[in-house]
Amino acid sequence: MTTITIGKILHKYQNFLTEYEVKKLREVQRGKTDFPTQVNDLKHALFGEEWDFMTKENSDTGNPMSQEYTDRVNKKREAFGVSPINDDGYSTDNTSDIFCEEVVRHTKNYKELLELKKKNAKQIVFVDMDNVLVNFQSGIDKISEEEKLKYEGDLDDVPGIFSLMDPYEGAIEGYKWLAKNFDTYILSTAPWDNPSAWTDKLLWVKKHLPDVAYKRLILSHNKHLAKGDFLIDDRTANGAENFPGKHIHFSEKGKGFEDWKTVISYMKNLA
Ligand SMILES: [Mg+2]
Repeated sequence: MTTITIGKILHKYQNFLTEYEVKKLREVQRGKTDFPTQVNDLKHALFGEEWDFMTKENSDTGNPMSQEYTDRVNKKREAFGVSPINDDGYSTDNTSDIFCEEVVRHTKNYKELLELKKKNAKQIVFVDMDNVLVNFQSGIDKISEEEKLKYEGDLDDVPGIFSLMDPYEGAIEGYKWLAKNFDTYILSTAPWDNPSAWTDKLLWVKKHLPDVAYKRLILSHNKHLAKGDFLIDDRTANGAENFPGKHIHFSEKGKGFEDWKTVISYMKNLA
């Protein structure tokens, strides 16, 4: 996970940069533009090679088609964990976009955040329930074999199943920490065909997070409409994929945010 700032790049990675890139980076560092503008400016400053190939005749940074040029930019990209450009000078994926977004987020010098701080307000975080706050399997383990057979493939439709579930490991402590440092809400989807789940989810929150999540439960099939900065969710369904802020993909090992510990250590740098 990237926890790098523009300042850190200038201090620790200067060997990988040309004078021109350093100069451009300093300009972006002065910041105060809005988030998307800053991400775009940073990308042009740091990964100019993604445009250079189009203007090879008058490039300041060497002939974009030479092997020497490609070797240098790819060494730099590797240092930042960004995929190399291909022989035609094109980036092959969105790793440079994601890198730049994370750098701007951690540099914390963009307009939206500065305005929040001026108002003494906090960034908004939404937290999903099933398999993030709630250990879904623990509910399945408590139902009868008959019910398991009857609802095979649709276990979230078993009446009352949501009230049986235990918290996910580290979730209660994690949520409490978030609630102190961010404007934190629960954003969950209750199954349309299991009306008792809507009640059970409320009861679960009242039982496990009675004070910190008081009146902060949102049940929705349209998570993309929630306006906020972060969504911690193990899935991309019900609009999570199109959430306008950062989707923290809580999930299996090896995919980035594998558990609550990883999520909190990431969020600590952003609080
Ligand atoms: Mg979930």
